[in-house]
Amino acid sequence: MREIGHFIGGEHVGGKSGRSSNIYNPATGEVQATVALASLEEIRAAVENAKAAQPKWAATNPQRRARVFFKFVELLNKHMDELAELLSREHGKTVEDSKGDIVRGLEVCEFVCGIPHLQKGEFTEGAGPAIDMYSLRQAVGIGAGITPFNFPAMIPMWMFAPAIACGNAFILKPSERDPSVPLRLAELMIEAGLPAGILNVVNGDKAAVDAILTDPDIGAVSFVGSTPIARYVYGTAAMNGKRAQCFGGAKNHMIIMPDADLDQAVNALMGAGYGSAGERCMAISVAVPVGEETANRLVEKLAPKIESLRIGPYTDDKADMGPLVTKEAYARVNSLIDRGVEQGAKLVVDGRGFKLQGYEDGYFVGGSLFDHVTPDMDIYKTEIFGPVLSVVRAKNYEEALDLPMKHEYGNGVAIYTRDGDAARDFASRINIGMIGINVPIPVPLAYHSFGGWKASSFGDLNQHGTDSIKFWTKTKTVTARWPSGIKDGAEFVMPTMK
Ligand code: NAD
Repeated sequence: MREIGHFIGGEHVGGKSGRSSNIYNPATGEVQATVALASLEEIRAAVENAKAAQPKWAATNPQRRARVFFKFVELLNKHMDELAELLSREHGKTVEDSKGDIVRGLEVCEFVCGIPHLQKGEFTEGAGPAIDMYSLRQAVGIGAGITPFNFPAMIPMWMFAPAIACGNAFILKPSERDPSVPLRLAELMIEAGLPAGILNVVNGDKAAVDAILTDPDIGAVSFVGSTPIARYVYGTAAMNGKRAQCFGGAKNHMIIMPDADLDQAVNALMGAGYGSAGERCMAISVAVPVGEETANRLVEKLAPKIESLRIGPYTDDKADMGPLVTKEAYARVNSLIDRGVEQGAKLVVDGRGFKLQGYEDGYFVGGSLFDHVTPDMDIYKTEIFGPVLSVVRAKNYEEALDLPMKHEYGNGVAIYTRDGDAARDFASRINIGMIGINVPIPVPLAYHSFGGWKASSFGDLNQHGTDSIKFWTKTKTVTARWPSGIKDGAEFVMPTMK
């Protein structure tokens, strides 16, 4: 059995805690490897390595730091097939989808190749008599990232690329479900010229997370995962004096106006609802058709497409979607479908009991569609994180708008319409972080910032874009006066520019 350890100080090291967790093949249910779960002492060892290496890295000029990322991007492209296969093998998503996961991370690495420009400070000449004032953006020191299973390449890169480019050392604690790609990324960063100790990957569970959150030398923590853990990480990090940005769960709605191109909306819902088996924080899980006629036509068009989804293991290059990640996820999604039926929603397409020949023990759930869902039902309130779409019928635009507005989560939302006024009003009034206008999954590109509102995000700076440079640096402002501007005698009043 393959035993996966950690990557500390530029080397692979075995786990020492005596604790480990199984990694399954989601298509077959077989255990394919074990991963070590780090103790507090192992996190400490990684931090000591990071601490020793960081000052020299921060003092490396920004062009040289950028060059590591230019080379890393080249290596990602060179190893794309190998990385995608490694990712799919543990996650279960299709290989093409894994490539999307990697490329969205790669794009943030391309963005940070501009670090000499991004990290520039500000300067005011003559702020007073012979006084100049300048602000610097200096690395926080040691940053940490705690990541979810669903994007094991993209999200680690969203975190470590800007952090490292800014001159920080980094401790990455990936999901214990699919740790192999993060470890491979760390090896490639070394190959790209990163000094040992700047990027450390320590695998683990709650014990490792708690060790990170209480470590005195870690200055900033970025988290992505479910909302209860995001809330916990944010509170604990803040209590321990750390800067924190924590991104949580979602329930993303798509409003379909009566004037929308319905075929476009249906295709968008298929990709956004069922791609990656619905295991995306930006997946659309609620469709809100406006008006009975729109609703009837929408459900009529969706149902046969969902029934004919091609579901398969990642090795099936024609599959639209793969299995769920674990047995627990499989059981959870099935029981939420049961709950929807119990609470009176109409199950138009039932994905329970889907079996794939030759893969009977895999965690496959067929595409499912509920109609006549209401806001009091558990399937509406809960993030299902599976291939299940709920249709909530709205009488008019205001009623449709009210649904995502009142929902606990605020990650993403979309509207399908040809009406510019409606789209503009929607984007302006909605209390959600990322809006798509005829775009189902509005994940911003690397040079804009990614983040939700309400229970989808805790902290005030987003991922990537210029927010990430602010998050991973501290501002220092220097006021300098040359002796020619200094008057004789002591000044006892507060200096002003009056
Ligand atoms: P998760 O919350 O179970 O795990 C995320 C991380 O937290 C993992 O590294 C895990 O080891 C750690 N963790 C788990 N339990 C913990 C505990 N009790 N204490 C401390 N740490 C703990 O999430 P997941 O199942 O891996 O990922 C799916 C979730 O992530 C979904 O809710 C999804 O919406 C969310 N997500 C959000 C975004 C976003 O940007 N908002 C992006 C991707 C995924």
